[in-house]
Amino acid sequence: MELHVPRTARIALNRPLRRLFDYLVPDHLSLQRGQRVVVPFGRQSATGLVAETDVTPPEGITLKPVISACEQWPALPAETFRLLSWASDYYQHPLGECLFTALPPALRRGRPAAEKHVVYWQACGDPALLPGNATKQRELLAWLQRHPGSVSAKQIIQAGFTQAQIKSLHGKELIREAPQPDPTGIPEEVRNRIPELSPAQLDAAGQLPTPENGFSASLLFGITGSGKTELYLYYLKRYLGNNDQALVLVPEINLTPQTVARFQHYFGSRIVVWHSALNDAERLSTWLKIRNGEPVILIGTRSAVLLPFTGLKTIVVDEEHDSSYKQGEGFRYSGRDTAVYRAHLNNCPVILGSATPSMESYHNALTGKYALVKLQERAGRARPPHIKLLDIRSRPLEGGLSRPALQAIEKRIQAGEQALVFVNRRGFAPVMMCFDCGHMVECPRCDTRLTYHRRDRAMRCHHCDFQTAATEHCPKCNSDAFKPVGQGTERTEDILSAQFPDTPVVRVDRDSTQRKGSIQSILETVNSGRPCILVGTQMLAKGHDFPNVTLVVVVNADGGLFSVDFRAPEQLIQTLLQVSGRAGRGEKAGEVLIQTCHSDHPLLRSLAEGHYLPVADQILAERETGQLPPYRAMAIFRAEAETMEKSLQLLDAIKPQVITSKVETWGPLPALIARRADRHRAQLVLLCSNRKYLNRHLARVCETLDQGKQPAGLKWMIDVDPQETG
Ligand code: ADP
Ligand code: ZN
Ligand code: ZN
Repeated sequence: MELHVPRTARIALNRPLRRLFDYLVPDHLSLQRGQRVVVPFGRQSATGLVAETDVTPPEGITLKPVISACEQWPALPAETFRLLSWASDYYQHPLGECLFTALPPALRRGRPAAEKHVVYWQACGDPALLPGNATKQRELLAWLQRHPGSVSAKQIIQAGFTQAQIKSLHGKELIREAPQPDPTGIPEEVRNRIPELSPAQLDAAGQLPTPENGFSASLLFGITGSGKTELYLYYLKRYLGNNDQALVLVPEINLTPQTVARFQHYFGSRIVVWHSALNDAERLSTWLKIRNGEPVILIGTRSAVLLPFTGLKTIVVDEEHDSSYKQGEGFRYSGRDTAVYRAHLNNCPVILGSATPSMESYHNALTGKYALVKLQERAGRARPPHIKLLDIRSRPLEGGLSRPALQAIEKRIQAGEQALVFVNRRGFAPVMMCFDCGHMVECPRCDTRLTYHRRDRAMRCHHCDFQTAATEHCPKCNSDAFKPVGQGTERTEDILSAQFPDTPVVRVDRDSTQRKGSIQSILETVNSGRPCILVGTQMLAKGHDFPNVTLVVVVNADGGLFSVDFRAPEQLIQTLLQVSGRAGRGEKAGEVLIQTCHSDHPLLRSLAEGHYLPVADQILAERETGQLPPYRAMAIFRAEAETMEKSLQLLDAIKPQVITSKVETWGPLPALIARRADRHRAQLVLLCSNRKYLNRHLARVCETLDQGKQPAGLKWMIDVDPQETG
């Protein structure tokens, strides 16, 4: 008797479960790893991804058969699958959810992996051949002739014609199907040019290993305005083959139409984008191009690094220090670190660019793991700005601004130039306080104070969605000595408008950009080059090129100097240098005034020298003394519950499982903002000098924790290489 061995498959589902599910494979199906399938799950069916085939299922379980395969090919090719399995292991996140992040939303929901076919038409015949009574058809033909290139059927119908008219003209061979027009409209001869680099840029480019050398990781340390973007363009133009794919990762806020246009200028329709504002159809279309191996250059934000490329030959991570590369919830991966691993898998180069490299990357460069390539001159005729610390300890301030700062702004405006004022808080003031009873208005759901937003007469929590109407009297004692304390962007905007009534003041923060649409339209005045004052938050620090801004004023630099978060000084220095880098990018020299109460602080003093690396060396030395990252690997167990006691209890129970001779722990302690949206948060920090050991150890601990049942309402999660540690 012949024994029939049933075929089986292990399937990953898009569920937050650290386990996979086994199914029978019916005879008519042949499955491979990474393929999308439909399987029965509970009383319903679910879309799954094949993780393994021919597995030995646990004993005593009756397997159900896979219902169908969504397509005959793996949605996730082998290399993408390996990348995501690595990320799942490294970040201790369930494989199913990791794999599904590489699919566009439509495919996660089980929709077909195909686009609607769009037909484009072009006129190709003589209208004289049409019968005299075919008025509408003649009109359509004439209309198409006025639109050289090709036009989609949808556009034709929107212009008032019908499908029947298109069909008749096609039948008479007066129009024909045509290729999709190049949406960039950039002529071939322009696209074939190679950017002209300065000698300093050429020298840097020459030091970057090329794709033929296989895997390499380089840290391109180029000061602000040194022309890093231009260098990426040059590199891709020179070394990327016509059939190759490339990935350029950028922080969300840097993916502006200008950036895309700069790339399109040299690569036309080869440029595709990936970011949070795309709709489902656009995502699917881009995903298919990448999966099908079209030779695209993808400019995308964090999650672009997980897409199913099949011919990736170069990766660029721009502004590699940016904290938005680390996902803050769920699958907490670092886009930058995943990019380095992916370059390794693909045996191709990765270039990490920044004017203010992260301590991790800088340390890797110092230890020889990454090549360090420096670009220390500004491009064109721009010179580095002059940075000055302005001690404000005993100076009277108006809306947070000192006399010398206001005078400096005035001078620039009179000279027909622009000034940028950096405030690290949006809203009018960080807190409302009663000067009679001392009451400060707090969020009822979080351990934070409410920010006063005068434009909307509201007090808002910046940590949850709570908001309430602003009052004129103290809610506690009814005194009218109830006043805003501290600086927000709205308040600075008001002060500057009052001081400079004839000069436009442009505010850029999350509130103003949400209301008025894109940051681009807000920045029109600035881009026109006319004298104006820009007021804004971090949003202004990143990637903008304002040639006529010659002065940057930092209202208060002191926030990050004494924080409990060990990354705070690094982030402060990076922000200050990035925002300083907005000054003097054109021909006129730039000046930066940093207001501070700690002008003798060693970090600020070396920053005032204008060079990042000595400051970075100082920060690294402190990290080494404290044996903090990058000198040891860090992970954090976080817990959330309806009381702090429960959160701490859970972490107390975890602690004995994680401590070994090689793993040090801190805590458990309440988080910096202990209560957020009525959840009480605590954390247990783990430090270990052996990253591989910590990884394996964490996997074991997570497995044990998964087996135990946690009481309802209690949640734990793990954050490997945490960005926020407060
Ligand atoms: P970064 O990315 O380092 O901030 P960019 O590539 O945006 O710098 O360049 C800063 C400015 O200098 C841009 O306006 C850019 O057009 C200009 N630029 C860059 N390279 C050159 C060059 N080789 N010659 C002239 N201008 C350049
Ligand atoms: Zn009061
Ligand atoms: Zn709140």
